[in-house]
Amino acid sequence: MNLFDQFGRHITDLRISVTDRCNFRCVYCRSADPENYREHDQILSWAELRRLAGLFFRLGITKMRITGGEPLVRKGVEEFIGALDQLGVPDLSMTTNGHLLAERCTALLAAGLRRINISLDSLDPIKFEKITRTRSYDEVMRGIDRAQATRFAPVKINAVLVRGFNEDEVEAFAAFARERGVIMRFIEFMPLDADRHWSRELVVPAAEVLARIEAQWKLEPIPHQASETARKYRFTDGTPGEIGLIAPVTQPFCGYCSRIRLTADGKLRTCLFSQEDRDLRGELRSSRSDEEIVSWIAAVVNQKEQGHRIGQPGFVPPSRTMVFIGG
Ligand code: SAM
Repeated sequence: MNLFDQFGRHITDLRISVTDRCNFRCVYCRSADPENYREHDQILSWAELRRLAGLFFRLGITKMRITGGEPLVRKGVEEFIGALDQLGVPDLSMTTNGHLLAERCTALLAAGLRRINISLDSLDPIKFEKITRTRSYDEVMRGIDRAQATRFAPVKINAVLVRGFNEDEVEAFAAFARERGVIMRFIEFMPLDADRHWSRELVVPAAEVLARIEAQWKLEPIPHQASETARKYRFTDGTPGEIGLIAPVTQPFCGYCSRIRLTADGKLRTCLFSQEDRDLRGELRSSRSDEEIVSWIAAVVNQKEQGHRIGQPGFVPPSRTMVFIGG
């Protein structure tokens, strides 16, 4: 069985948020003010997550990415990854802020995780602290080092560029990609921040990033699948390391989107910018059979939005911010 939406897009990619808690407070995501985490009983249990993962796998989901909040703060994530691996999910990955990664790398690999994306928004410890509101720069760097020394290499590093915070580091990040042989991905800031400070002026367009890197190093595009979020480039001088540009704001890729998201509290979201959460937890907890849940999922996915509409008249950001969705 396969999942298709009303526009004929084949849905093969599920982001699973395993917690809404995070040990960072990145300015483009969370507020400095206290935010309300969901109560524990609202969060899907590991058993519920395993059951749902099995159903999504039956529905042709071949890519599962574990995210959050910060996935490594929830105890038991390695066992959950092990269960997904047992299920036979071919593409199993995680997005993490890297703070707890160094000590967990070996267990994650042993559990069956294949790929890892680590967020790193500055190469300057002072600016890193300003953006993440933590002093974890050294821990994150250790996490990157450890991951690079394992089968996770080449590691993907994600930086969200926000004008006035870190857009001056584009060239430094590109140099980091070359020195460390990592895949450096620049993500455009999206209107998903808790403080609602997003504005178009704060977005650093991917075209600007590309032009600035190309002013120093010659790049060539790497062929990619249409559904991939990143436009990829390699250095023509053969130096390892890659550049990825993720431009949901200035070059939306909704027409090829193959993704859906499961929030930690069990809501199914067919777009990052969905106005409505669909209550999969409610289905799960009302003794529905597997067949009933599978039909429910297929019907919800069928209604996936055509596009996110950022920048269009009448655009309204979703009430959930990124930490409560799962990036
Ligand atoms: N805690 C993990 C981490 O930091 O990577 C996983 C969850 S985090 C919400 C997933 C990704 O979303 C990160 O790469 C983060 O930088 C990105 N993100 C968060 N808020 C964003 C925003 N407003 N615009 C663009 N990307 C954002």
